[in-house]
Amino acid sequence: MERKNKKLEWLLASGLSEALYWETLLDGKVQCQLCPRNCTIKSGNFGFCKTRYNQGGELKTAIWGKLLMPSVEPIETEAVFHFWPGAKILSIGNLGCNLDCDFCQNWESSNMNNLQPEFVKYRTPQEIVELAKRLDIKILSFTYNDPVVWFEFVYETAKLARANGLKTLFKSAGFISSRVALKLTEVIDIFSISLKSINPETFKKMSKGILDDVLKGIKIFHKSDSHLEISNLVVPGLTDIENDIRKLARWVKAELSDEVPLHFVRFHPAYKYMHVPRTAIAFLETARTIALEEGLKYVYIGNTYQKGHADIRCRDCGSLLVNRFGLYANCDGITGDGRCRSCGKLQNIVIPSKMNGPRKITEPQVNRKSVWQWSNEDARNLHIEIHNNSNYNKCIVCDHLGETGNLLNREVFNIPGVSEVRMAVGQVIETEKEVHIMHSKEILCQVAELEDRAHFPLEKTCKI
Ligand code: SF4
Repeated sequence: MERKNKKLEWLLASGLSEALYWETLLDGKVQCQLCPRNCTIKSGNFGFCKTRYNQGGELKTAIWGKLLMPSVEPIETEAVFHFWPGAKILSIGNLGCNLDCDFCQNWESSNMNNLQPEFVKYRTPQEIVELAKRLDIKILSFTYNDPVVWFEFVYETAKLARANGLKTLFKSAGFISSRVALKLTEVIDIFSISLKSINPETFKKMSKGILDDVLKGIKIFHKSDSHLEISNLVVPGLTDIENDIRKLARWVKAELSDEVPLHFVRFHPAYKYMHVPRTAIAFLETARTIALEEGLKYVYIGNTYQKGHADIRCRDCGSLLVNRFGLYANCDGITGDGRCRSCGKLQNIVIPSKMNGPRKITEPQVNRKSVWQWSNEDARNLHIEIHNNSNYNKCIVCDHLGETGNLLNREVFNIPGVSEVRMAVGQVIETEKEVHIMHSKEILCQVAELEDRAHFPLEKTCKI
């Protein structure tokens, strides 16, 4: 029996549930077949990911329903640009991972050694779907730590979400067994796969996984009816290699399609890679040029705020269809049925049956206002964590103001009966000066300024 630290003891003590995809071996051992690692696990031991445990000859999952606080974010945070641009999603994250990347940007939840049980709360699929409905959000995203390792919860929740009219998003590194990948296509509408490197040696070195299995999984997702986008985190010294970028673009075009969007994502220092600088913008632009040269039609740069990095243009007349600044999307160039407003040609963008109309300016019922001034040009997102134990409050309102105090945009988050949730709020244009956050005094709000997307737990938060 392996020696367990306090975190693993907590995992075991907080409950085990039935696991799928495994076989019994001799001597009480089992083989997990959820991912291509196919761990052989002795009784009383965990597999590589530390989420699956052999309890007396039966494989159990130790993470079913053990979730971090859900977040409301724009779909763009998931490197998804061609499905419901600008839509709000409800992101949920769990614990553990079947890869082991030294630069992991979700290391607080993906590596069990860093687990902080006080941030974990047990929730059922029904509660998650109910929360999305209360928040009036139509897309549920399984994200942060890799959802492969919490397959059982993901599948059940996604099935229920679909039955309730929601769309489902799976954000993953795609290191998954082929038959599990196929099973997922039954319940997932959008796959966003972070393909870490197209070079097998680099892939193994950076993630301790096997590239070939990831490529097989991506092909299965692409063959299904689901929407697929691919992203590539460009880590200085690891993946900022022009030949690899070219090879990646060629693979996407040859094995998938030139229509599959490809995102080059800017790295920020994290986990054991705190000494590595952010990716140079010039290299990201070179990567995009190479991928376009190779014939891909939709290539983007993520985690940057430069003009044109994340916009979508009409493939026929070149008009601007979706104009993005960071995580904020303006879809004025596209019609409600997915056509270019200038030339009328149908575009490769999935549009909801009812496109957002002009933004409604509502008069909020609030009695507390906090002003947040943007001060750090690397941090252009806020995460607002809400704890609401009252029935009084119905909404949080965020007004984005420009340099002259003019109102640029108002975001209203309705939170009827929701006791805790987080919300991502980003600068909407370069010259935005401050955000006014308005809510009732019964609500406790904590705010953190973030580079890129949300991470757990939030550090350096302040109460407002
Ligand atoms: S899911 Fe975990 S236990 Fe199962 S094969 Fe993969 S790493 Fe091993």
